[in-house]
Amino acid sequence: MVLWRDGGFEWELDLLSQLAADLGSTVLKNDFCDRWCWKDSNDGIYNVKSTYKAVINDGIYADFPLHKFLWSSYVPSKVSDFAWKILLNRIPSKCNLIKRKVLNIYASGCAWCGEDLENTSHLLFGCYYAYSVWLSVFAWFSVSTVLHNSCHENFAHFIGFPRCSGRDRMRWSVVWLATIWSLWLARNNVIFKDKVVTITDLVELIKLRSWNNDSFLFCTHHGISFVYGFLIIELV
Ligand SMILES: [Zn+2]
Repeated sequence: MVLWRDGGFEWELDLLSQLAADLGSTVLKNDFCDRWCWKDSNDGIYNVKSTYKAVINDGIYADFPLHKFLWSSYVPSKVSDFAWKILLNRIPSKCNLIKRKVLNIYASGCAWCGEDLENTSHLLFGCYYAYSVWLSVFAWFSVSTVLHNSCHENFAHFIGFPRCSGRDRMRWSVVWLATIWSLWLARNNVIFKDKVVTITDLVELIKLRSWNNDSFLFCTHHGISFVYGFLIIELV
């Protein structure tokens, strides 16, 4: 029997069931010593190549086929890692920190509006601040659209625009990744430095980060302008 110190997350219950099933089908042998085994390589020994294949393999993320766009070579690995945690709802948002008993329930207010609970969805999509930033990013591409508050749906929607296909989807994903990363850094600035980055400045930073990550964004694809006008801005 397993007891969770913090009561466990919803997604952990499935993992627990999976663990119980794995243990239940395991046959122990008296004449073998226990040893660690890396199941994604043929010889059971860990190597980076097999790990990379495991991460890229659609079988692991069968319920989220767009995962490959997260692991873009155009962005720093820390940004991909952050995006991955977002989609798993494992970033240290205030709500998640309260669940882990790191924060007091009274400290749950959103860094920007101070009214709603700071969960992943509100922080990155639902709050007026994040919402305004996304609208400005869409305006950059002259795209008018609705905004999903679900991380998965938002990401799928963003890289699924009708004019966005093939390798361009990877480029669109760079902008999405730059946006969520910039929102997170801006949120941290509010909490740890008591500094609010204006929406205009943050959008300029997103453009700059998108450009830094993917110089191809300067091209014009299928009528979508990615031209970036330089401004002198203070980096956060
Ligand atoms: Zn808010």
